[in-house]
Amino acid sequence: MPVGTQATVKAVPHGTLESLGAQIILANTYHLYLRPGHDSIRRMGGLHKFMSWPRALLTDSGGFQVFSLTALRKVTDDGVRFRSHLDGSSHSFTPEHSIDVQIALGADIAMAFDECTEYPADRRRAEESFRLTLDWAHRSLAHFRAHRHEVVWHESGVPPQEDGVPPVPPVWGLGRDDRTQSLFAIVQGGMFRDLRRQCAERLVEMDFDGYAIGGLSVGEPRELTLEMISEVLPLLPRDKPRYVMGVGYPDEIEQYTRMGVDMMDCVLPTRAARHALLFTSVGRLNIKNKQYSEDQSPPDPACRCLVCCRYSRAYLRHLVQSAEPLAATLNTIHNLAYYLGIMRRVRQDLAQL
Ligand SMILES: [Zn+2]
Repeated sequence: MPVGTQATVKAVPHGTLESLGAQIILANTYHLYLRPGHDSIRRMGGLHKFMSWPRALLTDSGGFQVFSLTALRKVTDDGVRFRSHLDGSSHSFTPEHSIDVQIALGADIAMAFDECTEYPADRRRAEESFRLTLDWAHRSLAHFRAHRHEVVWHESGVPPQEDGVPPVPPVWGLGRDDRTQSLFAIVQGGMFRDLRRQCAERLVEMDFDGYAIGGLSVGEPRELTLEMISEVLPLLPRDKPRYVMGVGYPDEIEQYTRMGVDMMDCVLPTRAARHALLFTSVGRLNIKNKQYSEDQSPPDPACRCLVCCRYSRAYLRHLVQSAEPLAATLNTIHNLAYYLGIMRRVRQDLAQL
């Protein structure tokens, strides 16, 4: 899933995302709650309509941003009080409020409100976060079940679909007749295998529509990320989407997919692109480097994306050097093409097994 924090995948128009084959994008609840506001988006027909994105959308719970962006936050059993990173105003998120905001936004997939454990965290801290995450998952689910039919597109059955585009398999109405949003739970537990295992088992008993593994890619060594995924993945139902949040490098997403992970999101391809870093079949290219100043070859000789078919490394370098906005656009389009290409190739391999 390309990340569209502010209801936009930075620098890339939606038609281009569609032509790249992006089936679903992630938008951030915290950011959209603060600006333009979830009630405003609901009044305008929900996020799909507001941003003119007819394919699938997922909103995160807001928990991760509250923990990573805000100052003066105070966590209680009830929820989190925090100050906005925009203007310092005071707000609070509880599991119920996060679900209300996500229902107002109306993405296909909403996430249970969790408490993301930082790294490193000691056993006591991880246990506390584990306890809160389970309690908040329970409250998120109860509130979601009571209010899921309030989503703005519930009357029409499914979110607006583009003609000729088949529905994306993992999303709405999993095994249900009344088609509405889906709610996924998030497994926490720090880097403690037994806590991760217990958290997964308890969440599976609650019967969510899908399951995510959160609290990874927070600064831990990669072997530990892999160890936690290996521990948790077999405990999550195979017939429901299994999502690892916030990963990763191109080789990581391929590795995790082959292990059975269905969904991932990461800012890496888009953020790196805006810093002139290209992921290619011949390794990472820092397109700012002087060595590319007269390099007429395509950014990635093996890529057939609209950037690699048309522009040279020298031209991309020139755009970056001149701080032209087109640099961010072209670099991002290539990186997304590269990431989505990996997923397409792995899907084909798996289909042949
Ligand atoms: Zn390309």
